[in-house]
Amino acid sequence: MYIILKKVSVNDIDKVLEKNFKINNSRLQNKMDVKEQSLLKRIEFLEKTVTKSLKTIETLKNENSVQKNQLLNVETMLKDVHYSIVGNKNFCPICNSELPTFLPGGVNQRENAMCPKCRSLERNRAVYLFLKEKTNIFDQNIKMLHFAPEVVLAEIFSKMDNIEYLPVDINPDMHDVKEKMDIQDIKYEDNTFDIIYCSHVLEHVPHDKKAMEELYRVLKPGGKAIIQVPLNPNYKETYEDPSFNTPELRLKHYGQSDHVRHYGLDFKEKLENVGFKVSDNFIIDMDEKSVKKYGINENLFDCTK
Ligand SMILES: [Zn+2]
Repeated sequence: MYIILKKVSVNDIDKVLEKNFKINNSRLQNKMDVKEQSLLKRIEFLEKTVTKSLKTIETLKNENSVQKNQLLNVETMLKDVHYSIVGNKNFCPICNSELPTFLPGGVNQRENAMCPKCRSLERNRAVYLFLKEKTNIFDQNIKMLHFAPEVVLAEIFSKMDNIEYLPVDINPDMHDVKEKMDIQDIKYEDNTFDIIYCSHVLEHVPHDKKAMEELYRVLKPGGKAIIQVPLNPNYKETYEDPSFNTPELRLKHYGQSDHVRHYGLDFKEKLENVGFKVSDNFIIDMDEKSVKKYGINENLFDCTK
């Protein structure tokens, strides 16, 4: 086994790295930290090594009948290892990359969260698949409002000629933001936007009902607002108490120091109460294999006016 592994040269490692780290988006190029690079490097090296070793064993089996049984044992073991890597291969639908794994990511580091190439998180990949499959965002002229724009998605939307794209945030200094906007007081007329994307914003906002009403108001009839929030399915009702008014208390009760509530199963009803027709079936209907393959672990709310 050791001899077989030694046959993989330094050049092979370089080739794997060159192939897998070709990142077209220059803004994302230097964001992978050393630990992440090292983790991905080791997994990719392992996959390549095992594949090569299996080929070598195939040759040796034909040449060396005396040690055939031992070789067969090694081959079985290596096939197991290979399946555990390749059999669970991931795919990022945003940057169209086959990956040996997603990396840990998020504020409270989650497993299988971040694409090592485009830096997308689970929720970004979920919404991208939804937009591709359930909207006309990729082929019709639309006007889109995007709150707290995620770099990976803002990069894509801003380059699409058919989208009149408006990325906004309460903090105008955030990356990609074109306009300062308070979601509780949107300075646009009724029925303005075809698509609104608002992910992980409402849990930061004091008057979330007002924010939902504003989203409904500025959406065109027939338009879609795609909304995501951290949601605890064990809470029947949203957990919220105005006396939790310090970063320490909010961290303790809501899991993050700048959140003002933790949504529960009543979130869908809250959206319906302002007028939206709401579906949360997109991810629920997806088969388990795809959910794992695309690294998606968060639902989204498809809200139609
Ligand atoms: Zn990606």
